[in-house]
Amino acid sequence: MSDWQKILRDGSIDTLEKLADKFGRDVIDVEALKPAFDNFQMRITPAALNQIREVGDPMWNQYVPTVQELDVVDGVIDSLDEDADSPVPNITHRYPDRVLFLVSPVCASYCRFCTRRRKVGDPEKIPLNQYDSAFEYIRQHPEVRDVILSGGDPMMLSDRRIEYILQNLRAIPHVEIIRLGSRITSHLPERITPEFCDMVQKYHPIYMNTHFNHPSELTEASRAALDRLSRAGVVLGCQTVLLKGVNDSPEVMMKLMHELLKARVRPYYIYMADQVAGGEHFRTQVQKGLEIVKALRGWTSGLAVPHFVIDAPGGGGKVPLLPEYVEEITDDEVIFRNYEGKRFTYKQPKTASPACPTEPAAEPDIVPIEIAASKGRATRKRKSANG
Ligand code: SF4
Repeated sequence: MSDWQKILRDGSIDTLEKLADKFGRDVIDVEALKPAFDNFQMRITPAALNQIREVGDPMWNQYVPTVQELDVVDGVIDSLDEDADSPVPNITHRYPDRVLFLVSPVCASYCRFCTRRRKVGDPEKIPLNQYDSAFEYIRQHPEVRDVILSGGDPMMLSDRRIEYILQNLRAIPHVEIIRLGSRITSHLPERITPEFCDMVQKYHPIYMNTHFNHPSELTEASRAALDRLSRAGVVLGCQTVLLKGVNDSPEVMMKLMHELLKARVRPYYIYMADQVAGGEHFRTQVQKGLEIVKALRGWTSGLAVPHFVIDAPGGGGKVPLLPEYVEEITDDEVIFRNYEGKRFTYKQPKTASPACPTEPAAEPDIVPIEIAASKGRATRKRKSANG
């Protein structure tokens, strides 16, 4: 057993009794929490536990089950309808050039707002013995140039198994990039071992979509793990979920984005919390997300401003949302406001740009690009002045 597996096994809290022992029975209402613990799986790793300062703080809220999870108002079990876009087990193929490949059924810590909570923690729903049909599906689809490994958390697999997956994907010529979607740098930074970093370098380009929701998660250990990944050439981005009681304030989000950049992680998305059953108490109004983006854009560097998106319920994919800056667009001008609310006008060009004419240019000396099909390459032919 690896060191990180021992840390996970021996140091995590996975029962109400252990939680009460750790935080004190005078602080925790054991009877009130019991129905939640009877119904839902939980595990909090030592790293995540260390981030909790007090009961009910943003870190506590992310990991400790509550009876609110039993209240389903308009939440949906598979809120993104991922199963409808699953042609073979473990694959979701929704967008033209990329697939989601679920490779691990487990996570180090279990987040209470998880979109995939219907599957996560259940090895029957993300079977480890059904990779072959997924590899075959990707092999048969040359349009797939980007594979996102997810789960659960792919970093919960052994190095040997991750390498097996990477080897198989790298043997498919049209797979250009591989992404690991993982919250491990926050939950179990010890998992980013030198051995893993040595191994992963053989399969570049590898990206990791990390997941941080609060600046407190950027601990010294997390930053060191991110540094090891950066030095191994893994390109780091971050996906953040907008969560009530965790990060629903411009100040917290600004601080989070700055801490990420200091750790060489590019903020990539802020997601509206999905309409997932059991996670409804984390949802904010969409206006809150727009307020946060408006508080970032212009007030800090663009590098610190991720895309704010709603993953459309029912499987529509990610849709970006922007605060309204444009007031009016005509053929003559565009009127808009800047980040400070000041009004500006941009004059439209008076004539159609020659770079994009509405009619093809009348140039008798030039014929269109022809595909030299027999040679399998494109050539540009120009007639001589004498024809
Ligand atoms: S780490 Fe990701 S997949 Fe696992 S429980 Fe949290 S949000 Fe869900």
